[in-house]
Amino acid sequence: MNGSKIDGKKVTEEMLLDKGYRKYSGEKLDIYYSKDICAHIGNCVRGNPDVFEVGRRPWIIADNGGVEDDIQVINTCPSGALKYIRKDGK
Ligand code: SF4
Repeated sequence: MNGSKIDGKKVTEEMLLDKGYRKYSGEKLDIYYSKDICAHIGNCVRGNPDVFEVGRRPWIIADNGGVEDDIQVINTCPSGALKYIRKDGK
């Protein structure tokens, strides 16, 4: 699933917070997560356990991975529970 869009529209922070996503800020990339949507399939944790670690607080640390790598893992989330906004506007 494309982590930068919902229903074909590019996500905005306002849209995501409105929908109940929580923000996990990084230097170059913010990751957003909705526990209500998460299907607990674990692609994220398997994709990069340094960024996504369930037992840790915060459980998502965007800066533990590179921007492109983080995006690649986020896009493997099948439920749409993970979204991202790049800070370089791309
Ligand atoms: S990949 Fe998506 S649905 Fe699966 S555990 Fe991670 S956030 Fe939840």
